[in-house]
Amino acid sequence: MMQDLVTERWEDFLKRYCWNDLIELSNSYPEHRSLFVKFTDMDLYDPTLADMILETPDVAIASATDALREMDMPTGVTLDEANLRIINLLRKVKIREIRSGDIGKLVAIEGMVTKATEVRPRVVEAVFECPFCHHIFSILQSGRQFKEPIECDQESGGCGRKVQRFKLLVEKSKFANAQKIRLQESPEELKGGELPQAVDAYLEDDISGEVTPGNRVIVTGILRSYQRMTQFGKTTPFFDIYLDGNSLELKEEEFEEILISDEDERKIKELASQSDVYEKLIRSIAPSIYGHAEIKEAMVLQLFSGVPKELPDETRIRGDIHILLVGDPGVAKSQLLTYLIRLAPRGLYTGGKSTSAAGLTAAAVRDEFGEGRWTLEAGALVLADKGIAAVDEIDKMEKKDRDALHEAMEQQTVSIAKAGIMARLNSRCGLLAAANPKFGRFDKYTPIAEQINMPPTLLSRFDLIFTMMDRPNEEQDMKTAEHIIETHYAGELIARLKSTGKVAAADKERFGQVNQIMEPAVAADLLRKYVAWSKRNMFPVMTEDAKNKFLEFYIGLRGQGYEDEEAPVPVTARQLEALIRLGEARARAELRDQVTAEDAERVIGVVTYCLKQVSTDPETGKLDTDWVAVGTTKTKRDRARSIREIIKELEKDYGDEVPVEEVLDLAEEEGMEREKVEEIIDVMKRDGILFSPSGGVIKFVR
Ligand code: ADP
Ligand code: MG
Repeated sequence: MMQDLVTERWEDFLKRYCWNDLIELSNSYPEHRSLFVKFTDMDLYDPTLADMILETPDVAIASATDALREMDMPTGVTLDEANLRIINLLRKVKIREIRSGDIGKLVAIEGMVTKATEVRPRVVEAVFECPFCHHIFSILQSGRQFKEPIECDQESGGCGRKVQRFKLLVEKSKFANAQKIRLQESPEELKGGELPQAVDAYLEDDISGEVTPGNRVIVTGILRSYQRMTQFGKTTPFFDIYLDGNSLELKEEEFEEILISDEDERKIKELASQSDVYEKLIRSIAPSIYGHAEIKEAMVLQLFSGVPKELPDETRIRGDIHILLVGDPGVAKSQLLTYLIRLAPRGLYTGGKSTSAAGLTAAAVRDEFGEGRWTLEAGALVLADKGIAAVDEIDKMEKKDRDALHEAMEQQTVSIAKAGIMARLNSRCGLLAAANPKFGRFDKYTPIAEQINMPPTLLSRFDLIFTMMDRPNEEQDMKTAEHIIETHYAGELIARLKSTGKVAAADKERFGQVNQIMEPAVAADLLRKYVAWSKRNMFPVMTEDAKNKFLEFYIGLRGQGYEDEEAPVPVTARQLEALIRLGEARARAELRDQVTAEDAERVIGVVTYCLKQVSTDPETGKLDTDWVAVGTTKTKRDRARSIREIIKELEKDYGDEVPVEEVLDLAEEEGMEREKVEEIIDVMKRDGILFSPSGGVIKFVR
């Protein structure tokens, strides 16, 4: 088709389908200078044109842009620098499915922005001057390489001489804002264990600077390739691809990737109407892991989360629930984390010690991606925005993350101010973290903060902290062992059934029984939809009864301190806020729009369970938030030193093996009762922290 003819057809189309948009554009031109054309409209109007856009986008978009720029507008405005941008492509190409056949075509790619450079000018039309005849001419710049003339341009009246280097007239050249971003597959698109793949995209003019890392977008553009170079500047036969962005669409809705049909909705409501739905949800979390019912309940609540609130004074209160699991090695922490991420409508799993510079929060780096510019790179909590981030071995995180995590967890933003980059990224996600104690085993006589290398201020940001200790206990051990053995047995049978199709009749019957225990009460797919539906539709409000329950609980505990000034602080306002969030989550879990007294009671139970585990002063048995929040207790502050410290002190004189008598003497000097100290030493032995290599001495287990 002739170029002019195509331009004409475009003109027709623009007039017929985009007239209102055009008028609007000409009214706000040049602040706004992009006309967004829906591909679906074009396909309706002129399928041949639509086809050309897909197959030969370079030519097609150029003629469409010409048509737009030459359009006679009744407003008298000439849209001479307007851009024509195509949106709403029907087919979206998955990043991992891009093939050589797509090169040169117009494609729409959906993904998560993990990196974005600063916006910097790129020369689009370079103007040169000939050093001999002073002729001035220009060269249009596209692609990744800067195009320089070899000879003076005769066509425009130059002398035609070959010149080593022409002078670039910067003031006369034309520039456009430009930005490079990296698009990565979203976690919810990945099947278990797949590494996310990425593609880079270039955005120019008014669509640059519109996204920040963590955003989910659709970029429509022309897929281009460039030859890869070796380290020494030699060309190789391999090509890399990038997307020359034509349009950008921001995806805001968090659960839109989860489609819920009418049939699904019917199933969701049916499930919610069952009286034991809450128990069923709990039983659906990691059924292969035995026990830990309280943790699983907390994880259910985390899936639903509380209601995020905007107050009239513009304060924002998070609805997301943060949970920390601290415990001995091998107690299924990692398993629980990975399981929840598989269930969460939008979840991301990572280790505390991450491989990228961005780590858990974000970083500004200058590397080859930015081609000389600074790049803002998003870390796990930003990428998990509007979802759940599971961070395993969070104790191994870097100092930079530890400092930034306060803001990321409470305000749910990550601020970066470095090298002229000022950005605030969103991290509106629930954090599910696991930590291993640094002395190997969890020791309830040492504050958690000290054991996992996390400041108490950070610990207090968690709504719930669970400790998971692995101590021999006959009944528990028996049940856990049986459960693990049965799980493996079921796994064996499944493996055999899958590869040979045969299982002995006797086994088949057993298999049915085993399967019943293993199978989640609610299938993962339905559960995911259930959560998404609830979060989209349910915004529960506290009933008067629920409010009173929370008040009673809080004042009841705080009451200790009203008469007795010396009493420890048992709970703080943070725990009260946690309770409210949990109560809302519990109502959402049953698709109710009210937080009832029963919800309140139930979550008070969960919080009390955690407080008892982590906030109990081990020496007095009283609740004392300072044990977590400040890293010491009232008793300890008064006495200044703990048994652990006394033993450490004595190690200086005695080496590893410290006489018990000496410990008792010293402790007595510090004002402790001998009996109490003996008791504590016994418990520490039972917990595997101390042992007696021979009579009368004790030693730390290391
Ligand atoms: P952690 O991260 O706490 O060190 P893992 O999650 O790696 O522990 O768990 C170690 C292994 O022990 C896993 O294979 C897990 O399935 C198993 N395991 C531990 N506790 C249980 C339990 N209560 N029920 C079933 N399996 C368990
Ligand atoms: Mg682990």
